[in-house]
Amino acid sequence: MRLILLGAPGAGKGTVAKLLTAIDGSVQISTGDILRAAVKAGTELGKKAQTAMTAGELVSDDLIMGIMGERLLEDDCKAGFLLDGFPRTIPQAEALKELLAKLNIELDGVVNLNVPREVILDRLTTRRTCVDCGAIYNVKSNPPKEGGKCDACGGAVVQRDDETEEAISKRLDVFNEQTAPLAGFYEGKGMLWDINATSSDVVVGTIQANLKG
Ligand code: AMP
Repeated sequence: MRLILLGAPGAGKGTVAKLLTAIDGSVQISTGDILRAAVKAGTELGKKAQTAMTAGELVSDDLIMGIMGERLLEDDCKAGFLLDGFPRTIPQAEALKELLAKLNIELDGVVNLNVPREVILDRLTTRRTCVDCGAIYNVKSNPPKEGGKCDACGGAVVQRDDETEEAISKRLDVFNEQTAPLAGFYEGKGMLWDINATSSDVVVGTIQANLKG
């Protein structure tokens, strides 16, 4: 399958993407994960992205399109892909459209995960992430089995730098201003699947039903 996953930070894009990859071997492409890996490795890309990320602001469209232009050419995308956290602005969506046309790739749809703001805030403040493999945990509902260690790879499970109260509030503002308009953009093209996203299993079921059409 070839999908864009839209939704606020904490709407469950990463969790849903991971469940979907298990269905047909599509690959999850998270620009946030790619950027966090670059920051951790101290690469040029990481240095350019770090300040904006820690503040909860967006990294420049040029930097993001540079990453995606290369990523979509990789072999593992042939089985399908789930775009998680990209596009995040109208210019990114326009640039993606051109890129996909050039590569002769058609999307199946754009999934819009709708979650109430109180649920989002609770999820983001209790979310923990593995620094090595990106696995997602929750201190209340899904803690790692062994304190602070990833069940899958043994990496450290920590609170992200941009999950302080201040950065979360900034990220939600940025989402409302710059990313939320993408729902209208894709709705206008007849591509939007609006889904009530409080349970990730229900989301996955709805996506599968939509794919069968
Ligand atoms: P995420 O893990 O998707 O919440 O992304 C974490 C941070 O990485 C965001 O708050 C942005 O600073 C940056 N980022 C990730 N994806 C994008 C994107 N498509 N455009 C701009 N900035 C991004």
